[in-house]
Amino acid sequence: PELFLPERRNSVGHDLMARGDFARIDAARGAFVGQEFSAAPRLAVPVQSDEVVPVMNPARSEERVGQVTLASAADVDAALGAARVWDASAEERAAILNRAADAYEANAGEFYAILAREAGKSMPDCEGELREAVDFLRYYAARITTDMTPRGRLVCISPWNFPLAIFTGQIAGALAAGNAVLAKPAEQTPLVADLATRLMLEAGVPSHALQLLPGDGAVVGAALTRDPRVDGVVFTGSTETAQIIRRSMAEHLDPGAPLIAETGGLNAMIVDSTALPEQVVRDVVASAFQSAGQRCSALRCLYVQEDVADHLLQMLYGAMDALEIGDPWLVSTDVGPVIDAEAAGGIRSYVSKARRERRVLHELRAPDQGHFIAPVAIKVSGIEELEREVFGPVLHIARFKARDLPKVMAAINARGYGLTFGLHTRIDDRVQEIVETMRVGNTYVNRNQIGAVVGSQPFGGEALSGTGPKAGGPEYVARLAMPVAAPEVA
Ligand code: GLU
Repeated sequence: PELFLPERRNSVGHDLMARGDFARIDAARGAFVGQEFSAAPRLAVPVQSDEVVPVMNPARSEERVGQVTLASAADVDAALGAARVWDASAEERAAILNRAADAYEANAGEFYAILAREAGKSMPDCEGELREAVDFLRYYAARITTDMTPRGRLVCISPWNFPLAIFTGQIAGALAAGNAVLAKPAEQTPLVADLATRLMLEAGVPSHALQLLPGDGAVVGAALTRDPRVDGVVFTGSTETAQIIRRSMAEHLDPGAPLIAETGGLNAMIVDSTALPEQVVRDVVASAFQSAGQRCSALRCLYVQEDVADHLLQMLYGAMDALEIGDPWLVSTDVGPVIDAEAAGGIRSYVSKARRERRVLHELRAPDQGHFIAPVAIKVSGIEELEREVFGPVLHIARFKARDLPKVMAAINARGYGLTFGLHTRIDDRVQEIVETMRVGNTYVNRNQIGAVVGSQPFGGEALSGTGPKAGGPEYVARLAMPVAAPEVA
């Protein structure tokens, strides 16, 4: 496990949790108010499908944001046939990825407008996404070496919760190694993917090396991951889908084809009696409720030491009350909607059950219109009680006695997920001991546990939470190139 302390920043010195220059962002996206956007397959060959579906705003369920032409299985086939590796020099590829990063920054206003209206992203989230996407392009460009040989055709399947950052990160990593990319964005967020793809193509990525296939997972994703022409898959999404992909790859693809998967989590945080309450409260709120809890890194189960629990939880509920839930277009909004009606329905029924069981400790009110879920705290005796990963602003809280700390750690490890873990304590020896015991990808000490920064906090999990090198880390691009043969020892 890697250990991250609060003072870590990336090379440009930004802190994703800091509030940025919102007036500037607001002005930049102003030109796109009310505009309708469109997305379509971007292929090196003519598009065959003409199936068009609308894209709706999760915050205002009646508002159309635009439309998307869905790729068909025939489009997937044609795209695979047209895909060719990027035969530019290492220097040229790096220059083009950096040029794409410049173009992203120059088009910030349009990105913010789409991210808010298509993905329900609050303003700090919009800003964080764009920065992360730009960081991925520049960081992976810097990891290109002259001896890299591409693997061939790589499929990139990205999630709606980071429709710009993760979409771009996967593609940038694969392109850095010179591969031909077939990108399938999430069903819910084709519009931002379309803009990002257009900018990468305009920056100089050839059309045969980057093709966009918006569409259904069951059509496009399934066709891509069972085609023997595919040389590897990069996936971020649910643990279940990752398992389906793994099976499909095992059946149809070359056994050497890599799968990099970043999947679900059941992330915990332990707070002991030496922790600083003000800091804990701020970091719990960010970890559990930022992005409406729709991060795989988000805090799901908070363990508070019994001795300080009453005081600390009162402060936490007060801080929750201060959150603004509403339209992400408003600068003041902290918590936007969840992604769609299906997501909202699932979370609502989960919370209703907890309400019936009288386990709700604290709950806010959400707007009636749109797919909003009010941040809520639910009592549990421990992480073993969580049925599943609830992908929304739902925080479970358990109390523990000091002597039971080893049991708490064992219970967290026993769930088999291993993405993020948070720890608040002032006892140095305890940090060491706990960090060595926890089987997770990213441990955060005395800070929030979301918003890993490209380059300085490589992100990725273990076991049910994922496989492969960490995103934004030094090994990512190399894994997407052919393995370099070990030099022969004379
Ligand atoms: N990298 C993000 C973070 O550190 C989470 C990515 C995800 O939700 O897939 O918060």
